[in-house]
Amino acid sequence: MIKGTAVGMAAGVLASKALLANSSPIKSGGNELDVIVIGAGFAGLTAARDCAKKGYRVLLLEARGRIGGRTYDMDFDGDHIEYGGTWIHWTQGYVWAEFARYGLTLKESPALVPGSASWISQGKLHEGQAADFYGKMIEGITAFSDVDGQGGRTVFPRPYDPFFNEQLVRQLDKLSLADRLREMKGSPELKDITAGLMAMGCASPLEQGAFLDWIKWWALNDYDFGHLGDRQARFKIKEGTGALANAILNDASVKLQVNEPVSEVQQVEGGVIVRTSTGTYRAGAVVAAVPLAVLDSIKFTPSLNTVKRGASQTGNTTTGRKVYFKLKEDIGAWTGVAAPPNPVTYAFTENTVSPGSLIVSFCYPGDIDFHNVTEAQRALRTLLPDVNVVATRCHDWTADPYSRAEWCWFRPGTLTGTFNELSRPEGRIHFASGDIAQGWRGFIDGAIESGMLAARQVDEQLSKQTTTKASAGA
Ligand SMILES: Cc1cc2nc3c(=O)[nH]c(=O)nc-3n(C[C@H](O)[C@H](O)[C@H](O)COP(=O)(O)OP(=O)(O)OC[C@H]3O[C@@H](n4cnc5c(N)ncnc54)[C@H](O)[C@@H]3O)c2cc1C
Repeated sequence: MIKGTAVGMAAGVLASKALLANSSPIKSGGNELDVIVIGAGFAGLTAARDCAKKGYRVLLLEARGRIGGRTYDMDFDGDHIEYGGTWIHWTQGYVWAEFARYGLTLKESPALVPGSASWISQGKLHEGQAADFYGKMIEGITAFSDVDGQGGRTVFPRPYDPFFNEQLVRQLDKLSLADRLREMKGSPELKDITAGLMAMGCASPLEQGAFLDWIKWWALNDYDFGHLGDRQARFKIKEGTGALANAILNDASVKLQVNEPVSEVQQVEGGVIVRTSTGTYRAGAVVAAVPLAVLDSIKFTPSLNTVKRGASQTGNTTTGRKVYFKLKEDIGAWTGVAAPPNPVTYAFTENTVSPGSLIVSFCYPGDIDFHNVTEAQRALRTLLPDVNVVATRCHDWTADPYSRAEWCWFRPGTLTGTFNELSRPEGRIHFASGDIAQGWRGFIDGAIESGMLAARQVDEQLSKQTTTKASAGA
């Protein structure tokens, strides 16, 4: 079935840009489009908005019944929670520009505040003051990161240019987090605490996570644990990530269709045909703004580069779970860390205001059903033995066919083996995702960076063709 789509647009603006020859309807009354963006996460929303603002006719096709992708905010019995991407920071320039542009407000999570801490080392639970615990954490990650005798500073001296020190990067990309833990200097306790933090980062067995992705985080946080806490777990959008997603969408004339999973993308003479289960559309260019792990589930004709396809199948290692626990007790400010295979690897108090406590946690992959309060309580009690869990909330991003993973954390070898290929356009297909960003890869910021760049590529491609046609017609 070929679906007709009314694309809202200002005809006057479009007159100079519209690629009527390229986007001629494949059926009378059909789809006259310049750009189809696949996926309405932050990468796709940004690409769609920027293309529409350039005057292109844009259709945004989203598989789910909502926008926002791996960000998803909601109410949890009176507390505002985020199932996915949450924290932003002014040092993340792309997301901060959008946050400021749309006049949103900040809310703080009580990350890294004084309070209590629990950690498991050598199978034994330790409890103490957060300040003492953070001291151990800093000692551990400083030793862990010091792979070059300079605190890791020579690896990504320009974090937005990951191959600036290519020789060292190629050498270190062989290392997994587990490899580096084995070779790092430090007591078993420091190694266990460091392993807990790394398991939170890679959300998978430590053998699968690239050491270099940690050093990338470390460089983006100026080699400072306090900055890491502030930039990655402190400031969130009071109105929720959904408010930012909606603001971007509503800022331009973009036609959105939800519940439209794209199954096939076919490049043809002068355009691209996109098929969903219910419709067929045609445009001059496509931005594939789906997660890296999902890319290979769409049929591309001609087939995508094998490096891209391989990275889609194995590149992103994250398979963990972000879980919110509501406790009967008010436990105050608290942080907990445990190395795999402990089910909860990193957790802290997210809200001490409501009755009881709200804990946010990052859990190790496994078969625990965190929707089941009894199972969830058993898992959390490894770190907080006396608490009573009254409710939990989480989303299984790995089982979700439209994400298949959490944020992006590469496997050893993925950076040097595939990264440069991941954002390379193939004909009229352009790629955008937080998973392939240059800077804050694996973050909302990276998604916006990537969407902005893809829109720019599309404009360069389409405007060149418009100019060529105009000169040919003159
Ligand atoms: C648990 C968790 C915690 C996180 N915490 C943070 C954080 O605190 N701060 C931060 O900055 N980042 C965080 N991130 C990462 C951040 O959320 C992502 O990097 C970012 O949202 C990715 O945006 P994206 O547009 O690239 O991909 P997505 O948001 O995944 O968007 C891709 C879109 O494509 C759609 N799609 C997929 N397949 C198809 C198809 N076949 N047809 C049509 N549409 C399709 C999806 O439904 C989705 O809407 C977190 C992520 C997770 C999962």
